[in-house]
Amino acid sequence: MRRKVTILGATGSIGQNTIDLIRRNLDAYDVVALTGASNIAQLARDAIDLKADIAVTAHDNLLDDLRDALAGSGVQAAAGSAAIDEAAARPADWIMSAIVGAAGLSPGYAALKQGTTLALANKESLVCAGQLMLDTAAQHGTRMLPVDSEHSAIFQALIGEEISAVERIIITASGGAFRDWPLEKLETATLAQASSHPNWDMGQRITIDSASMFNKAMEVIETREYFKVRPDQIEVLVHPQSMIHALVGFVDGALMAHVGPPDMRHAIGFALHHPARAALPVERLDLAAIGSFEFRAPDEVRWPALRLARETMAAGGMNGAVLNAAKETALDGFIAGALKFTQMSQIVEDTLSQMQRDCSLIRDTMSLDNVTQVDHLAREAAKAAITKRAG
Ligand code: NDP
Ligand code: MG
Repeated sequence: MRRKVTILGATGSIGQNTIDLIRRNLDAYDVVALTGASNIAQLARDAIDLKADIAVTAHDNLLDDLRDALAGSGVQAAAGSAAIDEAAARPADWIMSAIVGAAGLSPGYAALKQGTTLALANKESLVCAGQLMLDTAAQHGTRMLPVDSEHSAIFQALIGEEISAVERIIITASGGAFRDWPLEKLETATLAQASSHPNWDMGQRITIDSASMFNKAMEVIETREYFKVRPDQIEVLVHPQSMIHALVGFVDGALMAHVGPPDMRHAIGFALHHPARAALPVERLDLAAIGSFEFRAPDEVRWPALRLARETMAAGGMNGAVLNAAKETALDGFIAGALKFTQMSQIVEDTLSQMQRDCSLIRDTMSLDNVTQVDHLAREAAKAAITKRAG
């Protein structure tokens, strides 16, 4: 039987890798909805090619462009964030959540209510609202499968195991663009330098987050939320080759590692075919040719984001939503040239302290409305912190 699939964030790096896998076996799928934001040409091309029912852009002002691009194809067009939520709620067997940032939370949440399968690349949803996402999935009988490579690796290492037998979880980090830079030079890092990753080909925002380690900070929180282990059980290990994605350590001392090429089509394909395994078009590693793997302890002076992740987990409540909103705002500031690379973590730290001091809402019940409100307030606080630091 053909499976109905929807891809949220179809025009992005994860979205395009997902489409690559679907396109290779198009007879097996009916594409329900594809969503994007600015890249109307790509969205329309893929929607026509894959015979999607509907294509949706996040931007209201691009609806006419999308309609023009889809003219005569029979694919419906829609625009705006409410239309993306509606697309996410259209009946589908498998939904990929691959919008970047907190904008992915509401559509992912809508998709979880379908009681089918949500493949989750949007780690921000778990960082901002982990418990809400897990509870909603459980309530509706939805299977939520991690797509982040580290979390897919942990998930795979845990198949057939009891979570109570887990002693620790180690997630690896390449170290990003500035792993080997002298510390005093970090201040001078440019946008172009921060936007190039040594191993992975990803969207610009997550690539910069890899250089600052905010990506890993988010993934530590994602690990805690998804697998429900204690923060002290989660370790980060710098592994420049990005071939071991994560390791799970058990009470008997065994470490199960997941090894594979840095190609997101593995984790996406695993989630697409789960619980079966299917052949995937990824490189087969020649370990003898690779020769050796390197490991290093992470340096918290170079990467303060890792300390901020631990402080965020210790503070609890909706501090994850604060960390994410402050990080997204600081990243916007760096991309716009208003902040130095090293100032991003300072803005996040300032925002976390201020919100913990002044905003009691972060300790309230976690609901979509409250998380959205905390996200909004944290963005305002982060913008004020940027003005203060820059001025
Ligand atoms: P990209 O920036 O490449 O793509 C983001 C997608 O979201 C695009 O389809 C974009 O549309 C869309 N989008 C942007 N802003 C909005 C908005 N406000 N509302 C709705 N849609 C929007 O990101 P990635 O594919 O790199 O990352 C997607 C998610 O997956 C992130 O959460 C990231 O952390 C996670 N992830 C990514 C990995 C990777 O290898 N890239 C690895 C692991 C996790 P458009 O392009 O048309 O503007
Ligand atoms: Mg990852």
